[in-house]
Amino acid sequence: MKTLGLLGGMSWESTAIYYRLLNEIVRERLGGLHSAKLLLWSFNFAEIAERQHAGDWEGAGALLVEAARRLEAAGAQGLVICTNTMHKLAGAVEAAISIPLIHIADATACAVVEAGLRRPALLATRFTMEQDFYRGRLADKYGLQPVVPDQAGRDMVHRVIYDELCQGVVDGDSKAAYVEEVARMLRDQKIDGLIMGCTEITMLIGQDDFDIPVFDTTRIHAEAAVDFALS
Ligand code: GLU
Repeated sequence: MKTLGLLGGMSWESTAIYYRLLNEIVRERLGGLHSAKLLLWSFNFAEIAERQHAGDWEGAGALLVEAARRLEAAGAQGLVICTNTMHKLAGAVEAAISIPLIHIADATACAVVEAGLRRPALLATRFTMEQDFYRGRLADKYGLQPVVPDQAGRDMVHRVIYDELCQGVVDGDSKAAYVEEVARMLRDQKIDGLIMGCTEITMLIGQDDFDIPVFDTTRIHAEAAVDFALS
């Protein structure tokens, strides 16, 4: 089994989920006492979020690159960036290391394509919903047509991620707001699936809340990482 290096703490709420999933998936596949071989770099998310919201992606990138290099030097054989948003910097991180990066958007897109869908809703941070690094990859590499909420919907989804989920708050009204937003997109924008494109969203909603197929990027990414580790 290969050792995975995790860039986590973005936020730690979802990194804790990754930790559990990676170990559970290895146990499911190998049985008994088997568990994942992991190295974890866990950021102080306040230092990352501050740079994101100031538009200082170069500064955030420098932090990620330094941490990725340390994970490689410590023995990581593959890198997992435990957040969708920070895949904005995946190219810079990949260029700085010589181990493979398991890309969350690639793993997610493959799952959507495999399900025979084309027009999934994308709920995520404002950065992921509004910039091109994620939607563009889904469209250009996989022929998908990801659909995002309108401005008010994007503001609501983003606010719940940073003000609630990343701080460990799971609120019933916010859950209802997410479910309502997806219902609206189903009605007005003809979506055929839902990508939970932020690794904390799995704390709030899941397949049971919807009739359309739901793609949980945290789980999909963890499965892809274990595929790599056991390959
Ligand atoms: N974990 C979230 C994501 O998957 C948001 C936090 C971040 O900006 O990294 O996008």
